[in-house]
Amino acid sequence: MGEFELIRNFFAAAPCAQGGEGVALGIGDDCALLAVAPGEQLAISTDTLVAGVHFADPCDPFLLGQRSLAVAVSDLAAMGATPVAFTLALTLPTVTADWLQDYARGLNLMAQGCGVALVGGDTTRGPLSLTMTVFGRLPSGQALVRSGAQAGDLMCVGGELGNAAGALPLVLGQRTADPSIAGSLLAHYWSPQPQLALGRALRGKATSALDISDGLLADCGHIALASKVGIQVERSKLPVSAPLVAFLGQAGAEEAALSGGDDYVLAFTLPSVELPGLLAAGWPIHVVGRVVSGQGVTLLDNDGRDITPQTRGYQHFRETT
Ligand code: ADP
Ligand code: MG
Repeated sequence: MGEFELIRNFFAAAPCAQGGEGVALGIGDDCALLAVAPGEQLAISTDTLVAGVHFADPCDPFLLGQRSLAVAVSDLAAMGATPVAFTLALTLPTVTADWLQDYARGLNLMAQGCGVALVGGDTTRGPLSLTMTVFGRLPSGQALVRSGAQAGDLMCVGGELGNAAGALPLVLGQRTADPSIAGSLLAHYWSPQPQLALGRALRGKATSALDISDGLLADCGHIALASKVGIQVERSKLPVSAPLVAFLGQAGAEEAALSGGDDYVLAFTLPSVELPGLLAAGWPIHVVGRVVSGQGVTLLDNDGRDITPQTRGYQHFRETT
């Protein structure tokens, strides 16, 4: 199968590649064209997933299709943006119709669920890697940036933490679990649900936001740095799921919530006056700490003692000392 046949069969023909609101021209020309309404801005983000680094190789291509798009769209949720379009740069060692068909099916399912159109990409031969660039729209000036947190704000998250990190030993085949536990954890890993509606609901309310990809402590560190504030996280307030506690124990579940990656749950700072209204509207918001003057992230135990761990999150190219 040639490059053009591959693009036509598996990507240009996919339901998610048939355009949508804001797409003036999709796959097939030198560029796609997006329409930006007056008073709106485009939010743009790129994510690369490399086989053996970001996902096990081999893995189920259908699940990979879902996950590769979800992690990219999650960045749009974290800005409060509405998804419009995405491009896919696909590098493949070999071309097998079965693999591509399953990958495209997973990709299409996630794309349609998120309301985002495939508008272009690139297809090359090499070690398996996937690069997604996502485009979303926002009313000008309303993006949820990382730099607006204020001392006195609440530190909040949009759901339970640690499930995807808990799933990792299952994904890697290092452990097994009862199907009732494994099913729930693996679903969080393979098909994270970008919190798009929550992101939009936080516009004009949250003072900063991001999506948790490297663990709560590491990602709170990004907000603290960008906003020039300190953040205190209370260990007793971490929302962890019953399946995760059943699998790792309470302490293990809390570790996964603090330092595991891949949650793709929103973390944001909120003036306390905004909380009752959001809770009344049914948003699954958990307060995990607060913003203080100072710098860095501090983890506190039940008695308010500082129990901040030394290592946080996963970093590529981290220097070892
Ligand atoms: P060019 O040589 O101009 O870069 P390509 O031959 O790479 O064009 O791609 C032809 C068209 O197919 C372009 O519109 C491109 O965006 C699209 N395309 C290529 N690969 C993919 C892919 N994996 N998924 C979606 N669209 C793709
Ligand atoms: Mg090209």
